[in-house]
Amino acid sequence: MKRVHIGLGANLGDARATLEAARDALAALPGCTLVACSSWWRSAPLDASGPDFINGVVALDTTLSPLALLDALQAIERQHGRERPYRNAPRTLDLDLLLYGEQIITDSRLTVPHPRLLERAFVVYPLLEIAPQLTVPGFGPLAAALPAVQGQRVQRLE
Ligand code: AMP
Repeated sequence: MKRVHIGLGANLGDARATLEAARDALAALPGCTLVACSSWWRSAPLDASGPDFINGVVALDTTLSPLALLDALQAIERQHGRERPYRNAPRTLDLDLLLYGEQIITDSRLTVPHPRLLERAFVVYPLLEIAPQLTVPGFGPLAAALPAVQGQRVQRLE
């Protein structure tokens, strides 16, 4: 059983409803238990176009392997009609495997910790909300990433 953290983002359609449906789909995956879900946060698009994003993070305990979990994330993205017309296009749903326990993974399909985790306020803030003591393998305490992202505009939603 591994504790994993997954980032959720959407900026098309009813983004919040999509994220809530995705959270429920993650909780219902075989071999997975939902441990925590952050608040939803609004953020300006960073490497993408279109309206503001809604983002959040969930913690799961899972028996799935990293690649089986990635397959499951991509299946949930597809169920929500994600299309990839071009790189960084607006998306109805984006699911990122941020952390898989303490493991460092470099596979052609999967890099963990997620390479942009520490650069993005919309990941760092919700992650700290549910796991304030979290350590990022190869980096150290997640809280040490705060100064680098403090200039980015993010807003916690009620
Ligand atoms: P994106 O379009 O940003 O969602 O990127 C999706 C691609 O990133 C897929 O081809 C994945 O195989 C790859 N990828 C690499 N590392 C990760 C990760 N930690 N979480 C999700 N996708 C990843």
